[in-house]
Amino acid sequence: MRIGNSLTNYSYSVPGGGSSSSIAIVEWPLVYLGNLIYGQEICQQGIVCCHVVNVHSLKLQWVCSLCSCIFKQGRCTRSSEPCPSAVGVFHANTKIIVEDGTAEAWVRCKDEQVADLLQLSSAEWEGLQQHVVQQGSVYFQYQGRSGHELHEENTGDLLMQYLGTVCASPIVCRSIQLAFKVDSRNKRMLGQTETFQMRMLKCGDHQYSTKMAPTLSLTCLDIKEVDYRMLCHLGNDRLIQ
Ligand SMILES: [Zn+2]
Repeated sequence: MRIGNSLTNYSYSVPGGGSSSSIAIVEWPLVYLGNLIYGQEICQQGIVCCHVVNVHSLKLQWVCSLCSCIFKQGRCTRSSEPCPSAVGVFHANTKIIVEDGTAEAWVRCKDEQVADLLQLSSAEWEGLQQHVVQQGSVYFQYQGRSGHELHEENTGDLLMQYLGTVCASPIVCRSIQLAFKVDSRNKRMLGQTETFQMRMLKCGDHQYSTKMAPTLSLTCLDIKEVDYRMLCHLGNDRLIQ
């Protein structure tokens, strides 16, 4: 699958330099996911305009600043021996599935990227963290397209209900501009069509065999709302073909 070779490099500003206020300007190619899988676009980092299909899993937790055990309700929960730390550090990790019309990819996002994905303001992100500190650790996993098929033990948990609603909403499952890097364990599979697996699919009375591409795994570098000038460029690129 080749959708043009005219995709240009985009100057992209991302947080950098170790300070939240500093901005690094980098130039990454705008790519299609399908071209990455088929080796027609070779890059380690790039930008893709894609749609968030779903939030597969979301882990929110406070860990102790000294021993990394779970930090809950203002104290470290280490059980082997008492820990003197009174400081917890918040971490957020999520795995999402995105697609851009040419292929799907799994993307890992963490910390502030999760707030950007969920479109939470600073105050909402702080509020969510304060709810999580009551439990220390919260794990949400996607259970179905409606977003309401939570595990029975979680149905009475307001925080889980909130996460289930938000993660399945169009606020999160939307078009985004994703800056990414290819996961190192995924690199050697890209462009190697001999690693594609044959699968049999049944549709009614007919059986089809098809080659399945390897799963594309990416790490999020930054999430931005879609720049519609970029979408126009992509539209033109497809029309040229
Ligand atoms: Zn500790």
